[in-house]
Amino acid sequence: MTATNFENESLLVDGEDRGDVFYPPEPARLSRLQIEQFAQKARERLGFDFRKDDDLDEIVRHLGGQIVSVGRENKMSESGPVDSESSGLSYIVVGKGDKKFEIGLDKDLGPEQKRFDTAHELGHYLVNYPIVKKSGHDTMKAQGVGLGRADWEAQWFALSFLLPVDQLVKECQNLDFDLNTLCDNEEFSVPKEILASLVDIFKVEAFYVTARLKEIIKWPGLIQKTSVREVSPTSTET
Ligand SMILES: [Zn+2]
Repeated sequence: MTATNFENESLLVDGEDRGDVFYPPEPARLSRLQIEQFAQKARERLGFDFRKDDDLDEIVRHLGGQIVSVGRENKMSESGPVDSESSGLSYIVVGKGDKKFEIGLDKDLGPEQKRFDTAHELGHYLVNYPIVKKSGHDTMKAQGVGLGRADWEAQWFALSFLLPVDQLVKECQNLDFDLNTLCDNEEFSVPKEILASLVDIFKVEAFYVTARLKEIIKWPGLIQKTSVREVSPTSTET
């Protein structure tokens, strides 16, 4: 293992069933753009359609995983913030039982937040778990959203996966919303009705739609750069 494990060390806990040790997600050290490209490929490969797919349950099943509902009473560990957009209860465990992985979602979350949390946990599975495996381990556990690199990567993955940049730009055009109006807008206030429509279309919370629009504005190259080569967490070094 490398020194980078250290940032998530608190997540290393003993397994309940077999005495297994669950390793924390390992950062793939991919750039923001590489994660963007990786998520785009993943979306194509998994056939995710943000319009048709109300949730990610089918994709999780297809990957051999299972989603379970958790309440505060059967919360798996004390780690993770409990007052962020996500409740901090959501988690992913790899290598426990006979499923490939298990994603736990706080039962009190709304469908939009469940969708985002699932995509975040899938980010850990697709981006970080290959690195854990590469270092010789076959278990992993991540819970909530922390401040470490691996969590940033999972968060980037979720944003990229759920809000395809070209589609978002297109929907803004359909809504007659000129993205350029956000360029000099210091508060970055997206008109309420536009934001509500985008939340409806992409089925993620306004917070994340705004975050994605911010990325597009502050990073104009994003639109041209996204249709390129293959990126994999284990083969690309930055
Ligand atoms: Zn996480």
